[in-house]
Amino acid sequence: MQIPSKLPDVGTTIFSVMTRKALERDAINLSQGFPDIPVPSRLRSLLDEAVAAGHNQYAPLHGVEALREAIARLLDGRDGHRPDAEREITVTSGATEALFDAIQASVAPGDEVVILDPAYDAYGPAVQLAGGSVVRMPLEAGSFRVDWRQLAERITARTRLIIVNNPHNPSGAVFSRTDLDELAALVHDTGILILADEVYEHIVFDARPHHSVHAHPQLRERSFVVGSFGKTFHCTGWKVGYCVAPPALTAELRKIHQYVTFATMTPAQVALAGFMAEEPDHPAALAVMYQSKRDRFTAHLERAGFKLVPTPGTYFQLADYSALSDLDDVDFADHLIEQTGVAAIPLSPFYERPPAGQRLLRFCFAKRDETLDAAGERLCRI
Ligand code: PMP
Ligand code: GLN
Repeated sequence: MQIPSKLPDVGTTIFSVMTRKALERDAINLSQGFPDIPVPSRLRSLLDEAVAAGHNQYAPLHGVEALREAIARLLDGRDGHRPDAEREITVTSGATEALFDAIQASVAPGDEVVILDPAYDAYGPAVQLAGGSVVRMPLEAGSFRVDWRQLAERITARTRLIIVNNPHNPSGAVFSRTDLDELAALVHDTGILILADEVYEHIVFDARPHHSVHAHPQLRERSFVVGSFGKTFHCTGWKVGYCVAPPALTAELRKIHQYVTFATMTPAQVALAGFMAEEPDHPAALAVMYQSKRDRFTAHLERAGFKLVPTPGTYFQLADYSALSDLDDVDFADHLIEQTGVAAIPLSPFYERPPAGQRLLRFCFAKRDETLDAAGERLCRI
């Protein structure tokens, strides 16, 4: 039986497509973004202990208290502002659920939502399901920075939400404090809300701070800020994330959350809360570890003939292959798997209209050094 599709233009995500191809070809999978670094062993035992201790029934809908308090402590230390764990923090089943809930809570039919291209693929379909229309704005070619004057031109009386992603997937670009000030000036005296996808908040390199919307008083009061424990604790499969927002926004987000999932897996929340209390420095140590992986892997890419886009954040590296091939990026990603046994993600699926002639692939370097070295060796065969 056929039903009319609510998302007629949506297929299977490029992440699943490339991972399937990697498995079929037994390739080293640097496509879909997930670490092959093990979950910290203490965190694994805390999960076992939480299950054994009987934390196996529904959690409170807004999240286990100890975990919400741990998030509040972490953000207080970093942003100099402590969110109210009871009224402003909601634990969700991954950042994906938080993004979906925030969009459903804020966007009504006829509203416009500004998305910066290239964009993570979860935003557009959620806006469409809420009845909103997506207004795409290209980031500057090459630098992936926001041209705030151009963004101002996209704002209309119907603009309800601007979605920003910092650090940015797929480019690795990060916001400066000036970017946040520009954003604040743009929405000042309007009813526009911000959805800040900050899942790579702890992966900013070269000793730079992460400039969170949560640290900016004018933005904080109108923002949903989304994080993910998957990225921070090497457990993307646990699907635990969170949203921080002022009480009135949180109240609306929770109305959606309670009917999407109601609550998030209890023992994982208990384990994460315990680990964050025992190892408060784990998030801050991520940047140093991933920076050394970035530098290790980029040396391999350069040796193989790729040109690199600078990566100030995230665990993704963009590489220009125009010196190696004239194929478009989707075909070249297939060619790379065939020829070298390394899987990467083509960039064009992140765009509404990919820039003509752009020859970029995204590699995930959240991998053990042995994996990165093996991939580097294979890439030299191209
Ligand atoms: N936003 C961005 C930018 C991401 O890269 C990802 C995931 N990989 C997510 C959201 C989703 O996070 P989660 O796995 O916690 O749902
Ligand atoms: N966020 C991950 C990435 O960018 C993928 C998550 C997913 O497969 N949905 O690769």
